[in-house]
Amino acid sequence: MSDCIFCRIAQGKAEARIVYQDEEVTAFHDLNPRAPVHVLIIPNRHIASVAEAGVEDEPVLGKLFTVACRAAEELGVTDYRLVINNGPQAGQSVFHLHVHLLGGRRMSWPPG
Ligand code: 5GP
Ligand code: ZN
Repeated sequence: MSDCIFCRIAQGKAEARIVYQDEEVTAFHDLNPRAPVHVLIIPNRHIASVAEAGVEDEPVLGKLFTVACRAAEELGVTDYRLVINNGPQAGQSVFHLHVHLLGGRRMSWPPG
């Protein structure tokens, strides 16, 4: 989708501080970090939300998590939170599926 900012980042058409990229996924630093480490991991292919993902997306969904854990290791955090917001009420503001990797500070529970 040409009007989707995360598609544009995955395609190299918009700037981002890329942490990792391959044919299926891209990981990059969040523009407005909520923790010392705040990275977003996305499928390169546009999927609007986790609820929109289908059975055919199961391999890439798994990869989002393994790449997130590897990024955490490379960025030096052992304790971290992986978050997916689904829908505006849950805090989703960009409608291209992404996993948040948040780390480097103490987290409270439950999230607000
Ligand atoms: P959501 O609220 O949808 O779960 O998360 C969207 C995240 O994307 C937010 O943390 C926001 O700071 C980040 N974000 C929005 N636009 C951009 C952008 O253009 N570049 C980067 N790197 N992050 C962005
Ligand atoms: Zn997109």
